[in-house]
Amino acid sequence: MQYAEPINRLIKSFAKLPGIGEKTATRLALFVLNTNREYAEEFASSLKAVKDSVGLCSRCMTFSDVDPCVICADAGRDKSQVCVVSDYKDMMAIEAFAGYRGAYHILHGNLAPLKGVGPDEIKLKELVERVASNGVNEVILATGFDAEGDATATYIAGIIKPYNVTITRIASGVPVGSFIEYMDPSTLGRAMEGRRTI
Ligand SMILES: [Zn+2]
Repeated sequence: MQYAEPINRLIKSFAKLPGIGEKTATRLALFVLNTNREYAEEFASSLKAVKDSVGLCSRCMTFSDVDPCVICADAGRDKSQVCVVSDYKDMMAIEAFAGYRGAYHILHGNLAPLKGVGPDEIKLKELVERVASNGVNEVILATGFDAEGDATATYIAGIIKPYNVTITRIASGVPVGSFIEYMDPSTLGRAMEGRRTI
């Protein structure tokens, strides 16, 4: 006995989500099947809306439904300070710690040569262009402290060095392999305040 094709299709879609196995995917699909029509329609339309109306900010590369994003458009923020993070989640984590009032640059990944992720696969060119166009005094490298995040920070430091900007790396103070999104706000605050010039 097989599930009807539309149910199978939904199970397959759920199974592609991170951390969702076949069993959970089946449970979620059956939940949708048993729930009311309004919920299913709202769920479907929110999935579509996130792809239709959210793009990348042309300055900092963050996900945004407006361009420039609210952070880049905020006159109260110091655009000469650019905090470089591996992904959107890390930016949101730093943002949750209210102390930072500069701008961001989201790489959308870390360099990982063994996985085929080179400089052209992440938003590195855009960062270099931003630094080269002047107006940036400090680049804060806030990529993770795992091997890939560290290698990415070292690589970026090397390519932006000629542009005469201060390059800093946030202080680790957390076990090796920790990602920024999992740091609690006070650790993140200390990591930001304890950043060192490299
Ligand atoms: Zn932006």
